[in-house]
Amino acid sequence: MATAQSLQGLKDSLRASDRMPLVFLGHGSPMNAIEDTAYSRGWTELGRALPRPQAVLVVSAHWMTQRSTLVNVSALPRTIHDFYGFPPELYAQQYPAPGAPDLARDVVSLLASHHAAGDDTWGLDHGAWSVLKFLYPDADVPVFQLSIDMTQDLPHHLEIGAALAALRHRGVLILGSGNVVHNLRAMRPGAGPHDWAVEFDTLFAERLKARDHAAISDRAGLGQLLAVAHPSLDHYIPALTVAGASDEADRLVFMNEGIDLGSVSMRSFIYC
Ligand code: ZN
Repeated sequence: MATAQSLQGLKDSLRASDRMPLVFLGHGSPMNAIEDTAYSRGWTELGRALPRPQAVLVVSAHWMTQRSTLVNVSALPRTIHDFYGFPPELYAQQYPAPGAPDLARDVVSLLASHHAAGDDTWGLDHGAWSVLKFLYPDADVPVFQLSIDMTQDLPHHLEIGAALAALRHRGVLILGSGNVVHNLRAMRPGAGPHDWAVEFDTLFAERLKARDHAAISDRAGLGQLLAVAHPSLDHYIPALTVAGASDEADRLVFMNEGIDLGSVSMRSFIYC
């Protein structure tokens, strides 16, 4: 869990930087969006420590595309309630932040060699708004989403991150939203984390600290452990995109560490 002290240290290094930090947040259950949890409190604290960006580019686990990387160019992205069987209060949530159409078109150009295209059908899915509402509660920072191309292998998503890194100098906060471990079939509330969940979460954190990006994107090398931690890779990919945008000059800070519901890692990280 991020402590007040670690966030104060983070605040100091954020002030000293001339480029935007990178953030990956484990979003977990949509209920975190309307409940006062240790995780949502961490997001609020982080929001107070972060510099105010010109715009936020969100890479969410919940916008999956095939053979293309889409960039939402809407002027007013709609709030998408992409979950089932939750209380009415969650469906009533709105996050009316403006989009950033000009910047979004620049991102399409930046990713031209990665089959990028503009899109005006998506908006903000819950991977984006369920955490943004704590980071920027007034919804006054422009936000736009980037999809994840599910037909590409893991190293591709590191490359997307590397291509996006230039945006950090233009006041853009790149925010990945997924989970470092995400196996909904293995959820067991109240029974403690699965051993494999702790093992994958720890392995990922160690490799990330070592900047061993080859290891975290090596599907064969991660083998069965990756397969059980991520029956599908959508929640893992945004973490790779964020790592791919980082470089040797960044300091890596972890927050919200912990396994929720037995099989969902809430581990989040910031490069600054
Ligand atoms: Zn999710």
